[in-house]
Formats: sequence, structure tokens, C-alpha cells
Amino acid sequence: MPSDTPRLEIRNLVRRFDGRAVVDDVSLKIMPGQVTCLLGPSGCGKSTTLRMIAGVEMQDSGTIHVDGALICDTIFRVPPERREIGLMFQDFALFPHLSVADNVGYGLRGNKASKRARVEELLERVDLKRFIDGYPHQLSGGEQQRVALARALAPRPRIMLMDEPFSGLDNRLRDGIRDETLSILKEEDTAVLLVTHEPDEAMRMADEIALMRDGKIVQQGAPYNVYTRPLDRAAVAFFSDAN
Ligand code: ADP
Ligand code: MG
Repeated sequence: MPSDTPRLEIRNLVRRFDGRAVVDDVSLKIMPGQVTCLLGPSGCGKSTTLRMIAGVEMQDSGTIHVDGALICDTIFRVPPERREIGLMFQDFALFPHLSVADNVGYGLRGNKASKRARVEELLERVDLKRFIDGYPHQLSGGEQQRVALARALAPRPRIMLMDEPFSGLDNRLRDGIRDETLSILKEEDTAVLLVTHEPDEAMRMADEIALMRDGKIVQQGAPYNVYTRPLDRAAVAFFSDAN
């Protein structure tokens, strides 16, 4: 595979509800190891875009390719569980009745020993190995979030989709966890699509920002360029209101 093949490419995605296009001709490319933030106000269509990529929402038109291979158009679709995509949502909670080890190992196949080895490796990575036999309720919110990250990364997904994953966290914790999450995702060379309505978060985490409004990507580029050269008044207002 040529090295300039995007890990994820969506082309002209459209999703209508009741005749209204809530995702309206959205196209994006993300390279391995790249973090793209889909940034925009509540209701602009961010989560719907992510859900189509995950395969839990069907597009009305448009295509999705992973590593150059078609995984979804309006006729053909690879089911969600075979897309090798990791998910991290704000309300995507850990299983309370399962141990930390079983939570992280949940989506893994293989024999017991190889699963245990991967679980240990991931918990080491998020610095929580000491909790391996503990339960979610024994962990702080930030620690639970790191376990959720370990769980999402365990099957070595090619793409990680994150929908406002840090918004449930304490302000004091958030920056640390953002940085830590970012460094782990970079080490794994995962392509990341991070949805957020917070410009701060996008500025801190993104290699590229895609500014979304009313179902459309209205501007796209490096964080510094989007921030310093907003395309229109609405983009200026969005950055300044949200801060
Ligand atoms: P965001 O994540 O940017 O806040 P969403 O993608 O969740 O936005 O929603 C975009 C728009 O689509 C909203 O107006 C929302 O009400 C609408 N919407 C989302 N899902 C459905 C659905 N299943 N049926 C009808 N409308 C929906
Ligand atoms: Mg949303």
C-alpha cells in the first residue's frame, strides 16, 4: 500500500432526517497517526458523522474507505464489528460488573494467556496496572477514562473515533488526560477523529481542525491557521463565544 493512502477517507457523506440534511456532503481524509478534530456547535452533525463511520448509522449517500478499501457505500457495507474501529464516547461507560482486566480484554479474541498479556500491556501504558483486578467503581473518573482508552485500543483498531470523550471530566484533570491520551494514540499510529464543541480541546489535540456548521465542513486546516485566519464571522464568533 502506498504510504500516502489515507487511513480513513470519507467522501460526500450525506445523512437526512425528515428531509433535512444534518450531514451535508462531508468529506475528510485522515492519515495514520493523525488527529483530526471535528469542531462545531451542538447540533451541527458531528455525532451523526461519527456514527456513520462506526457503522451504526447508515448514510443516504457517500462512501467510506479504510486504508484504500471500500467499507461502506449505499449498497455494500462492512458491519461495525468488522471495521477495526475503536470508540470512545463520553457516556460509553465501563461494564460495572466486570473487573478492570475483563473490561480491557472485552473485545479481544485469542487464548487466555495472549489476552492477559495484551491487557497488561495496555494497563501499563495508561499507568493503571495496579488496578488490574479492581472494579470500575474503585476508580476516579479520570482513571475510568484511561481504562476506557485501554479497552478501545486493546484490539489494535486502525481508527479511533472519540465523541466528546473528556467532557465528563473535572477541569483540573482534563488537560493531563488529553495529553496522555494523545501520546498513547500517537505511539499506536492510530488515525483519530475527535469530535468536540470546545475550541480549546481542538487547539490542544488536533493536527488538523475541520470546522463544522449546519451539516457542512466550512473550513479545514492546521489549528493555528483556522484560529488565526477564520474564514468568516461565524467562525470568529464560534471561537470567541466558546472561550
Ligand atoms: P452534534 O453531535 O454536532 O451535536 P448530531 O449529529 O447529534 O449533532 O445531530 C445533528 C442533528 O441531527 C440534530 O439536529 C439532531 O437533532 C438531528 N438528529 C440526530 N439523530 C437523529 C435521529 N435519529 N432522528 C432525527 N433527528 C436526528
Ligand atoms: Mg454530539
